[in-house]
Amino acid sequence: MSIPKTQKAVFFEENGDLDVIKYDDVPVPEIGEGDVLIKNRYAGLNYIETYFRTGLYPTEKPHILGREATGEIVKVGSKVNNLKVGDKVGYLSTATFAQYTRFPATGNILRLPANANDENMKLVAGALLQGLTALTFIYEAYDVQKDDYILVTAAAGGVGLLLCQLLSKLKKAHVIAYASTDEKLKLAQEAGAEYLVNSSTTTYEEQVKKILDITGGKGVAASFDSVGRDTADLSLAVIGRKGTFVSFGNASGPVPPLQLSRLSAKNLKVVRPVLYGYITEHEEFEKYTNQLFHLIDSGDLKIYISKTYPLENYVDAAREFEGRKTTGKLVFEIPQ
Ligand code: NDP
Repeated sequence: MSIPKTQKAVFFEENGDLDVIKYDDVPVPEIGEGDVLIKNRYAGLNYIETYFRTGLYPTEKPHILGREATGEIVKVGSKVNNLKVGDKVGYLSTATFAQYTRFPATGNILRLPANANDENMKLVAGALLQGLTALTFIYEAYDVQKDDYILVTAAAGGVGLLLCQLLSKLKKAHVIAYASTDEKLKLAQEAGAEYLVNSSTTTYEEQVKKILDITGGKGVAASFDSVGRDTADLSLAVIGRKGTFVSFGNASGPVPPLQLSRLSAKNLKVVRPVLYGYITEHEEFEKYTNQLFHLIDSGDLKIYISKTYPLENYVDAAREFEGRKTTGKLVFEIPQ
């Protein structure tokens, strides 16, 4: 297969609103002796793209967006012996909103069956990052126990719908879903949430009371809170004695500095995990990807891919996503 010198990619050269995004020609990366070059087929959208673009998370520039993809290996470095041209793969990496991505062959990469079709490739691209996030967090950030009451914010989002399913089915916990519309809450309910809190139609005081009432006044064992600034106080108010605040995102902005003394009244724990810290070792990546795809293959975990966009429509997708208009997972089809 001949590899072109340039390719289409989604990138930015300065921080700002969505108008800084470019979809244009960039060089196809050169690979080193230990790398492979992957021709991407599908790539999943994640909220972290927004943090890089706005500058909340610093990054080098120009920055090609994208954190996960599926595709086919089209070139291997001279020292690579675990992967070959033609292998279909799923992987977590930067710079996947592009036609080609360079990846170290020793990195965390999942070899897919040779007969994987487009639907399979799309599913893996939509499942990998958010699936591993939800799965690792419910064991490692807080090891959820049977019958725990757990608050999930942004419960109809990509990670949210996976948490609802895994917490209810795998961990047999009681999920309290928190989301901004009844339509979103209905979806969270389908995914296993038992109790629903509409963040738009109730006041903060009503939300606290409702969640405490659901738990018989005890409070939740943990809050899996990805909304950040707007929900941190709610989380801290409704977590029960010895409970855990799993703060793992900033969709509404970063959580303001937290006085440690606020934890004392209920002996609370706070964790601020990132997925990569739980899959750093190959064995960890393997263990959790095996479990994730076993759950998907057996039908126990549904990946809600709500929309697929051509890569060139990245800005439209991001606008809907950041405008809270979307549910589940959004995926890009990469031009071939
Ligand atoms: P989602 O599909 O959950 O989309 C974000 C959702 O956040 C929105 O739909 C919205 O739901 C809610 N939200 C609340 N306030 C705002 C706001 N002011 N602006 C925008 N959205 C808001 O996204 P993802 O599933 O991709 O990610 C969910 C979160 O998990 C993100 O914060 C992300 O950074 C985090 N994450 C963290 C990881 C880690 O390793 N720590 C890994 C993966 C994801 P509603 O309208 O119902 O409130």
